[in-house]
Amino acid sequence: MANKKFSDLLLNWFDLYGRHDLPWQKNPTPYRVWVSEIMLQQTQVQTVIPFFTNFVRLFPSIKVLSEKNLDEVLNSWSGLGYYSRARNLHKAARMIEEKYGGVMPTTTEELMGLPGIGKSTAGAIIALALNRPAAILDANVKRVLSRYHAIKAKPETARTKKQLWANAEMHVPTSRHREYTQALMDLGAMVCKKDPICSRCPYTNSCAAYLSNSTRIFPGSGKKKSSKTKSTYIAIIRNRKREILLERRPESGIWGGLWSFPEFDEKNGAETIILNVMDSANYYCEQLPPKHHHFTHFKLILKPLLFTLIGDNSRLLENDGRMFFQKKSAKTIGTPKPVVDLLNDLWRKNKENS
Ligand code: SF4
Repeated sequence: MANKKFSDLLLNWFDLYGRHDLPWQKNPTPYRVWVSEIMLQQTQVQTVIPFFTNFVRLFPSIKVLSEKNLDEVLNSWSGLGYYSRARNLHKAARMIEEKYGGVMPTTTEELMGLPGIGKSTAGAIIALALNRPAAILDANVKRVLSRYHAIKAKPETARTKKQLWANAEMHVPTSRHREYTQALMDLGAMVCKKDPICSRCPYTNSCAAYLSNSTRIFPGSGKKKSSKTKSTYIAIIRNRKREILLERRPESGIWGGLWSFPEFDEKNGAETIILNVMDSANYYCEQLPPKHHHFTHFKLILKPLLFTLIGDNSRLLENDGRMFFQKKSAKTIGTPKPVVDLLNDLWRKNKENS
């Protein structure tokens, strides 16, 4: 049975303090809500807003998205990170076209059958787009419920997840499902943050963690993963026409399916590609300053080596997922942010020197 007090307090708070003007709240179709929910995984609202606006401008419907090639979709995602989200959106759009005649399904089970949609995202689509009852349990909601119910165990264990889901489902109200779901997300993002601002919370008379003065110990945490640093050489190979060689990365791993510079563990590995794959052995090489890129669990240091090919023999002997790109064509493919930054630096220098 719905816990009316919990939802009433939250909805009253939301009416006064919640977010009512987010772009995906205007015309909240299942497609727009789905796109926003995928973008909001691991990413802050303020970062998502311009990407969302651009994405729905480029791909205004499931049909349009399904008809585009993956590179166009990845290109629009450049800078947002976690590119598997874009690949899954594209793949799911094609599945919806084929299996559901282009209409987004509306049951939890069907939605969870699409790539990239878990139980919480399915619940968010049902509640936010269709205004129907469904529970959500994203990272923010896990934090709120762990504290409210004083659930100390690590939220990622199967037992704790089950407990949190049971609580999330218990609190779903009998009406105003859209507002309630947005309110829960907003409370987690704006008030019950890592350092909670309990003085602004509607639950100071009922939150178990607050009442026992122990908000700091909830949610429980597992062993912290140590932050690692990885470093790799990258070869920026430039031919006489000032085109740059890029290769498509494998589907799995970081930046899966995107175009990037060839990567090497050892400095001399880059020379091998020039000798083996291209019919040019003449080049000069300069080392550029390293670029640092932060992922959630590690820092990546890219050590760029710029190879400028001399002579006309810079034809690729075999394609093998590698291509030379001009500035204009490189802007239409999916490339990760550090690669975009390096390319822009190079082309800016080309312009200055020309
Ligand atoms: S009272 Fe504090 S800890 Fe409890 S739900 Fe509200 S903000 Fe979170």
